[in-house]
Amino acid sequence: MADKNVQDNSRLFFEGPDDSLSPREAIAEAKRCLNCKTPSCRTGCPIENEIPQFIAALAKGNVGEASSIIARRSNLPAVCGRVCPHEHQCEGACVLAKKGKGIRIGKLEQFVADFDAEMELTTPIPPSTFIGRVAVIGSGPAGLTVAGDLAKMGYSVVVFENQTEPGGVLMYGIPDFRLKKDVVRREIRRIERLGVKFNNEILVGPDITIDELFADGYDAIFIGTGTALPRTLDVPGKDLPGVLQATYFLQMVALARSGQVDRKEVPVQLGDNVIVIGAGNVGMDAARTAIRLGARATIVYHRTEKEMTALPSEYQQAREEGVEFVWLASTRQFLGKDKLTGLEYEVMEISSSQTLTGTGRREQLKADKVILAIGQRPAARIVSTTRGIQVNDKGYVITKDRPYGMTTRRGVFAGGDVVHEPATVVLAMKEAKKVAQGIAMYIEAKKLLEDCGV
Ligand SMILES: Cc1cc2nc3c(=O)[nH]c(=O)nc-3n(C[C@H](O)[C@H](O)[C@H](O)COP(=O)(O)OP(=O)(O)OC[C@H]3O[C@@H](n4cnc5c(N)ncnc54)[C@H](O)[C@@H]3O)c2cc1C
Ligand code: SF4
Repeated sequence: MADKNVQDNSRLFFEGPDDSLSPREAIAEAKRCLNCKTPSCRTGCPIENEIPQFIAALAKGNVGEASSIIARRSNLPAVCGRVCPHEHQCEGACVLAKKGKGIRIGKLEQFVADFDAEMELTTPIPPSTFIGRVAVIGSGPAGLTVAGDLAKMGYSVVVFENQTEPGGVLMYGIPDFRLKKDVVRREIRRIERLGVKFNNEILVGPDITIDELFADGYDAIFIGTGTALPRTLDVPGKDLPGVLQATYFLQMVALARSGQVDRKEVPVQLGDNVIVIGAGNVGMDAARTAIRLGARATIVYHRTEKEMTALPSEYQQAREEGVEFVWLASTRQFLGKDKLTGLEYEVMEISSSQTLTGTGRREQLKADKVILAIGQRPAARIVSTTRGIQVNDKGYVITKDRPYGMTTRRGVFAGGDVVHEPATVVLAMKEAKKVAQGIAMYIEAKKLLEDCGV
């Protein structure tokens, strides 16, 4: 349904902004840091990156040292530098932010990681010790963090990943214009250089079970499988061709970009009228990606602008790129006979007591495609093929505090979105770092008991 009034933006499909700092800009920015005695930036960072220290090294022009300092806490600096919600974390907490011009910590982290990778200033070295064997299921930020941290401690780690390439949402969710896939591949290569092995295209559960992994001699197993099942909207017309899931759409775009599927298989085409339901970051990504494919995109949300969960910066960029918004619109049905032609929503209102109620008034919007971005939950492929791993009523894996992250089955740990519900890359990393410590504690105790003949 091409439209001559619609600009063909599909060339942007293969482009992203080059917003990196030059060495001169990075050093100048680093020199602005006050090196505060009590650095609030560090407290603002969920994984407590040693921010003032790496900035001080960078200010002296020592990028290699800055990179080594960051590597003490993070296995994914080039990713975090690009996709962390900095305005709510380190940058929001920087004292200079209160005066209106905080240090651009994310950009500095991104510069250090990119420059180091390009110039090969530092090399990850695997430790020569061998403490035990760990299987990691899933290679998103949680799995990669557990793998990297345990490898640094001297564990032999094998990652099992369902997709053809590791990276989880970093590879198949977050669009290329925000996070280039070569950046993700580069970070994974550094983790590989620590000795971590990746087994792709293995779906744990159907292909190999937890019990079989233990029988192969692993001392502990980590589940970092994220939230694979998208939520659906149970309204008339929900099965019409043209009603899609945001995660599927974004994954198809990523696969088309890497040449694994044909561009024609991407379910949004030039000139399409696309409606995205949901105003979180996933909704913004889906709408901005649709625009890049040459479609028109409108986000429909049942509440108001004030209550949407997307980051202000993501929302701002979506607006600048031409995404339109319909607020207080609760979808009641998808329209069409054999295929989707539009959607009908009820106009909502918020009472003085902040309760959301329907007004009874219905309106319709035309649509060639509707993309649902209303959340995900974990799949049950692993828990249904083994025994002893309990989940809560929403399907999230239940874990303990001691050893940190262990599930109700001994030796099986879990972390990231599969435990704490969909959050952010850095929160998955934060939890995974604690779980890596829990796994190390568990294996040490297990080996000690084995040595004592218990
Ligand atoms: C579109 C989108 C955009 C986002 N944007 C941002 C952002 O800008 N900033 C931010 O901080 N956060 C963002 N997030 C959230 C963030 O990406 C997630 O919180 C984070 O990736 C969770 O990490 P994880 O490792 O727990 O799970 P995931 O990244 O989901 O990784 C899970 C991995 O496990 C694999 N897997 C699942 N089941 C099995 C199995 N049985 N066997 C083998 N492998 C399996 C999956 O294939 C996947 O690779 C975004 C999320 C989405 C969906
Ligand atoms: S709070 Fe800001 S100025 Fe202070 S050390 Fe951190 S980045 Fe530097």
